[in-house]
Amino acid sequence: MPYIAMARKWRPRSFNEMTGQEHIAQTLKNAIATGNIHHAFLFTGTRGVGKTTSARILAAMLNCAAKDEQKPCGECENCKAIAAGSSLDVSEFDAASNSGVDEMRDLLEGTEYPPMNSKYRILIIDEVHALSKQAWYSMLKTLEEPPPYLVFIFATTEVNKVLPTILSRVLRFDFKRLSPMQISKRLSFICEQESIEIEPEALAIISEKADGSMRDALTIFDEVFAYSGKTITAQSVQNALGIPSGALYFELIKAFEAHDAKGSFAVLEKAMAAGTEVQVFLSGFIKFLRNFLYARIGLSAGQLEISQAGLDSLKALAPTFEEGDILRIAKIITELSEKCSARHGLNPRLLTETEFSKIAWLDRVANIKEALEKIAPTALLKEENQKKINPIGSAAPTASATSSSSTTGPFRLSL
Ligand SMILES: [Zn+2]
Repeated sequence: MPYIAMARKWRPRSFNEMTGQEHIAQTLKNAIATGNIHHAFLFTGTRGVGKTTSARILAAMLNCAAKDEQKPCGECENCKAIAAGSSLDVSEFDAASNSGVDEMRDLLEGTEYPPMNSKYRILIIDEVHALSKQAWYSMLKTLEEPPPYLVFIFATTEVNKVLPTILSRVLRFDFKRLSPMQISKRLSFICEQESIEIEPEALAIISEKADGSMRDALTIFDEVFAYSGKTITAQSVQNALGIPSGALYFELIKAFEAHDAKGSFAVLEKAMAAGTEVQVFLSGFIKFLRNFLYARIGLSAGQLEISQAGLDSLKALAPTFEEGDILRIAKIITELSEKCSARHGLNPRLLTETEFSKIAWLDRVANIKEALEKIAPTALLKEENQKKINPIGSAAPTASATSSSSTTGPFRLSL
């Protein structure tokens, strides 16, 4: 049997199957239940969040012969034709490849006549912002005075490019980006249905990489599935996608904690030898630092979408680091990552090694307590004794002294 891409196989057929756009699904279902159908809808949002899918579901619900208010039946001739893309009453038009006025005229030509087999004639126009101005204006008259059976469904990723005169005539729905948690949940459901075993961390890596888009998540999932087969581990996802193993980031943090610049270079070398690009390695490290920080401040494994074992390892990691230290490293790495992607001719590896040395070395230089102890151990001792003798009456200085002594450790001063 030929392999069917997951995005196609698991494309939702009803609003109940949609992920993350419940607010829109509910409003559209209500509109259908009350028969209060607007003649033009605009679905806007980033790519891969369900705009075109929702347009098809809405079209099927409007024309389904079964008249179920919750979902299209999927069985009647209209539902089948819409799913197959062969319905004579539902036209799909991709404005990104047909932006001209002639194509628009052709599309509008059939709208003078009532639908053949259904209640509505429906025009789905994808990437509607890409239409030329002339094409927009040739559509405007029909949009202003549509025949009662005509419904427009526009979809766009760039609503700011849609003419205000069009915006004022449509019912607008803003689709949200999906959270990694929502993507994980859907992928997990699909794996269950397909009898695929997948580790929670593998799900988390895919969901994170999908960057809010379900379509991207499923495309990545296809790639991983092709590599791993029916058992998907975090390691196999990393191998399939060329993402560095999480273990490398643990090594890197330990090298920084030990002020071991050479050790940090060795980690970078390992990542590059495994085929990981410097930018990919750095962006993974930023995410790792985020998880490291959140683990410190008490977020749960579920909230971080990592396994309990992963969370425990993060909590046990680098006890001399405090939140401020992690934030400082994250700031350096973020700036470094921007420099590396700016492509101004500098060698990303060289830049990275320089910044890694800075993290490993500057903090050692900046350890003020050690420096003070070397210069004036007696002065420090006096200060400590003074605090013991007179804890009250000098509240402010004591508080500040306590805070500085409680934050001793190799990483203290801001750079
Ligand atoms: Zn039907």
